[in-house]
Amino acid sequence: TPIRIRKPDWLRVKAPTSVGFAQTRKLMRDLGLNTVCEEAACPNIGECWTQKHATVMILGDTCTRACAFCNVKTGMPNPVDPLEPEHVATAAAELGLEHIVITSVDRDDLADGGATQFVRVIEALRRRTPKTTIEILTPDFRNKADEAVKRIVDARPDVYNHNLETVPRLYPTIRPGARYYHSLRLLERVKALDPTIFTKSGLMVGLGEERLEIHQVMDDMRSADIDFLTIGQYLQPTPRHAKVIDFVTPDTFKSYASLGRAKGFALVAASPLTRSSYHAGDDFAKLKAA
Ligand code: SF4
Ligand code: SF4
Repeated sequence: TPIRIRKPDWLRVKAPTSVGFAQTRKLMRDLGLNTVCEEAACPNIGECWTQKHATVMILGDTCTRACAFCNVKTGMPNPVDPLEPEHVATAAAELGLEHIVITSVDRDDLADGGATQFVRVIEALRRRTPKTTIEILTPDFRNKADEAVKRIVDARPDVYNHNLETVPRLYPTIRPGARYYHSLRLLERVKALDPTIFTKSGLMVGLGEERLEIHQVMDDMRSADIDFLTIGQYLQPTPRHAKVIDFVTPDTFKSYASLGRAKGFALVAASPLTRSSYHAGDDFAKLKAA
């Protein structure tokens, strides 16, 4: 009989019921924007949306890939919405965001992989909310990466994030459409093109990785000059997705965090509920003030 592992207490979160939550949801609906908070079934949605922190997911709600851990739907995406950049800027203005995280589905169907839309969103935000710092979390752009990354770097986001997600050994099962070294090189290239842009990457744990493999990934990240690191517990969004192999304890997260700092990351967030965008603005603001 399969053993059903019960979620430990440290992963329990309150149901989202606040006024701020409802306002954030209404704004996103009114502007026709998708969020990774909803599409990825993020456990932090109650807390984040109450504080009006939402991570916008551009380029539609349908992804051309099907990663084993991800709740975003897969299929043939809709055409790119030309009004989306202005809508994102409106959301940032109305929510009063000091920091915005923009991500997207993978658009392997588009000639530019979606890079133009990232650039347009950054330009619209700079025009409408010039004080808002911009963090983008991009796909790997597969064989279009050289051109796509160059164009996005030229638009000068403050933080360029691309998640390695897991250790290289688990790529074939967890992230089958992607290549570990391709993702690593993408981030290295951002830094080489513009050293003033902070680079960031993240990992999910609980997928069967070994501790030493995580240490190795940290070393790989540092040798690619990656500045910020996030590590969070993987949660299975539906029974069709990859299984949780173990629930990593808060103490292990703490040890990852101190090791990450010792290895030279300027920012490390590692806790069970850490996600790429969780408290991203607060952490970035603290770093800038330091
Ligand atoms: Fe959204 Fe990120 Fe907060 Fe999750 S952690 S609810 S994805 S902003
Ligand atoms: Fe989800 Fe990104 Fe994988 Fe698409 S590429 S399935 S959005 S993790």
